[in-house]
Amino acid sequence: MKAFTMLSVLRICHNCQSPNIIKNGKNASNQQRYRCKDCNVTRVLDYRQPSRVLDMEQVALTYTERGSFRSTGRIFDVSHVSILRWLKKSPVAARF
Ligand SMILES: [Zn+2]
Repeated sequence: MKAFTMLSVLRICHNCQSPNIIKNGKNASNQQRYRCKDCNVTRVLDYRQPSRVLDMEQVALTYTERGSFRSTGRIFDVSHVSILRWLKKSPVAARF
């Protein structure tokens, strides 16, 4: 007979560290959202991609070379909308 070990992952609220959280639907990327019963905050707890720090100088330069948000997005593997938003508020982009 096989012995099974039940593994459970203790999830805690990132806002108040309470373990009292429940599933609360999924986001547009089909990631599980959770809601804390204590502080009512809802969020995704396991992010697929850690946030990255991109060299904005490089992004702006690539955009001026290629002239397209979509191609710049493909090069840096981010959404073309992200490129658009970054360049709008980036002081680096104001020079180009
Ligand atoms: Zn909480």
